[in-house]
Amino acid sequence: MARYTVYADLNCPFCYALHEQLISFGLMDQVDWRLIEHAPDLDVFNTSAQSQAELASDVFIVRTRAPQVELALPKKRSDSRFASLCVIQAADIDPAKAAHLRHLLYRALWIEGKDISDVSVIYDCLVATELPAEVDIESEQENKLSFWQESWEQGEYNRRIPVLEAIDGRISLGLPSTEDLLAFFQGEEISSQALPSESNVQFERQTIAIYSDQGIEPVWPLISSLRTEYNILLPATLNELSTLLKEDPPQLLLLSTNEQWPEMLKLCQEVTQLKDDSPLPVALVSNEADDHIELEAYSAGASDFLVLSRSPVILLSRVQILMQLKQSQDQLARSARIDGLTQVNNRREFERSIETEWRRVQRAKRKIALIMVDIDHFKAFNDFYGHLAGDGCLRTVAKAISNTIQRAHDLVCRYGGEEFAIILPDTDLRGAELLAEKMIQAVSELKIEHDKSETLDVVTISAGIACLSPFHGGSPHDLISQADQALYQAKESGRNQLVTALA
Ligand code: GH3
Ligand code: MG
Ligand code: MG
Repeated sequence: MARYTVYADLNCPFCYALHEQLISFGLMDQVDWRLIEHAPDLDVFNTSAQSQAELASDVFIVRTRAPQVELALPKKRSDSRFASLCVIQAADIDPAKAAHLRHLLYRALWIEGKDISDVSVIYDCLVATELPAEVDIESEQENKLSFWQESWEQGEYNRRIPVLEAIDGRISLGLPSTEDLLAFFQGEEISSQALPSESNVQFERQTIAIYSDQGIEPVWPLISSLRTEYNILLPATLNELSTLLKEDPPQLLLLSTNEQWPEMLKLCQEVTQLKDDSPLPVALVSNEADDHIELEAYSAGASDFLVLSRSPVILLSRVQILMQLKQSQDQLARSARIDGLTQVNNRREFERSIETEWRRVQRAKRKIALIMVDIDHFKAFNDFYGHLAGDGCLRTVAKAISNTIQRAHDLVCRYGGEEFAIILPDTDLRGAELLAEKMIQAVSELKIEHDKSETLDVVTISAGIACLSPFHGGSPHDLISQADQALYQAKESGRNQLVTALA
């Protein structure tokens, strides 16, 4: 009997990625993979802007969490019921071939973008596995699917993620990181990834947001040529688009319309006029060529005007050029942001970020924490070991601090000399304390010799922490000054420790 059971849907990208990972780690033979329908009562297969947006965002999350898994945005989330029944039936004939069939169906949808509710697609997969291509689903298979479905529904799990159950009762929800997955198979408990919204994995692929007021259909040929190379996000409404631009801006925005030109041009103008180090390029997408509108688009700040009747290869090339330009701009902007010695964010970036993060957290009615870190007895270190060694020490300490950071929005900055400031949006006091403890420990564990320190015989740091709810008033300045005072107290109390500012 298999030691693990997975309840998964063929039309779920999280399940697909889990499936690929288990195969690549050679763990699939320990798993009973039960195909069910994650949301049989929800209309998830339609191609409304909303479900397209959801699908694109799910694919985006899976790519950030499992960047090694090959995955491209399909046109729609196919109804998977019939394909699942075919796999269930195949298992009665030949379990190994059934597993292969399941693999081919997953790849047909999630790599090739085929519709696996289409019988001809299923037929091709059956033929490739050398299973009988004649399928006659009987009540036996239906019953099995219903039985699995009921077992899964008893767990009342989230409707859109895979569930991995171990025979000893441990459960993993969602798509775990590679490390967690391997730990789970070693018998460890892991924390579950409910519906994920953020990730600590930095991904290479650039992101294109496409907003179309005429639905997905006319722009699909364009998306189709972009979907393998880039992450595609499809905000369904102007509100969704504006949240995306504020919180997680893409590298390119494509605005598509057929008739609403004044609105789209206005939107283009608004986006391109935003003051930013590295502005977001916008290209307008039109069904037909029109010199007059094209000229207006450039006046509104557009970087390009794409005509859908052109060949997809041409469109792809033009998008690639826009993306390359954007990449060079981003690199330039990055070098203006980063401290040359320590490679963390510089003071200018700190000033900018603390303001923007403060406002973002204020809108979301969340908390923001700040950790101020200062190296202990660093003057004595420099005096004794020399400035070159001092510089090396700063670099190593900056790296150790950065390595403790896990969330994409957390920001490590060099505040000045041997002081660092770590901005932690959406973080409470306890969270910040845990992180600061980790930093203090990480630095002392570096065991950088410091014979002239009055604290230990290795380099140590002190930390001051403050946390505020911007929603209740105050300013970033209050946060900085509270953290700074706490740091001062940490120094007074003997260094190599943290002190928390009283709210
Ligand atoms: P405390 O434990 O109270 O923080 O004492 P400290 O000696 O660390 O503090 P102080 O502010 O007196 O000295 C900071 C020293 O940091 C002064 C300078 O020699 C050193 N420093 C600042 N920036 C740099 C830098 O970029 N490179 C090097 N090598 N040293 C730096
Ligand atoms: Mg100092
Ligand atoms: Mg110091």
